[in-house]
Amino acid sequence: MHQDIKEILLTEEQIAARVHELGAQITKDYAGKTILMCGILKGAVTFFTDLARCIDGPVYFDFMSCSSYGSSTTSSGVLKIRKDLDNDVKDKDVLIVEDIIDTGVTLSHLVPMLKERGARSVKLATLLSKPARRQVEVPVDYNGFEIPDAFVVGYGLDYDSRYRNLPYIGILKEEVYSK
Ligand code: 5GP
Repeated sequence: MHQDIKEILLTEEQIAARVHELGAQITKDYAGKTILMCGILKGAVTFFTDLARCIDGPVYFDFMSCSSYGSSTTSSGVLKIRKDLDNDVKDKDVLIVEDIIDTGVTLSHLVPMLKERGARSVKLATLLSKPARRQVEVPVDYNGFEIPDAFVVGYGLDYDSRYRNLPYIGILKEEVYSK
């Protein structure tokens, strides 16, 4: 285990098993449809690529970079779009793929925006959700795991651009971000 990690919350094996379940559910729900998977950079990339390989059906990839976070561990509550989608979402079945839903602020802006652009449907898949932190309710269609209110890293999630490559989800030691 990495020296900056206090505790492993979800192992590689637990994540892989759950991602397979989500992929099977999505395959069933979207039978006969083409999915435009929209990954939220950069945290969702690992989940996105694993999930995509568990979906049996036609899928297109697109990515967007938006966040309400800087390098701090608290939300500013402001949505910034740094990179927009390449695809026109009009009449498409969009599946937003997010790493974690915390306050819900990011998604509460994003889902209506994609609907306004004319998407036929907009669903949401997230690997993690912290229900205790929710400020805005967002309907989550595919939720990997509900986790307690702790700052987590690994499997794509970072702190200050680090730890994304850890294969598990771990709770970061407080002293790392209080330095
Ligand atoms: P929300 O708008 O739901 O508050 O924030 C969602 C975004 O906040 C996520 O996409 C992620 O970038 C960041 N975030 C929230 N909680 C955590 C956490 O525990 N660890 C990390 N690394 N990022 C988090």
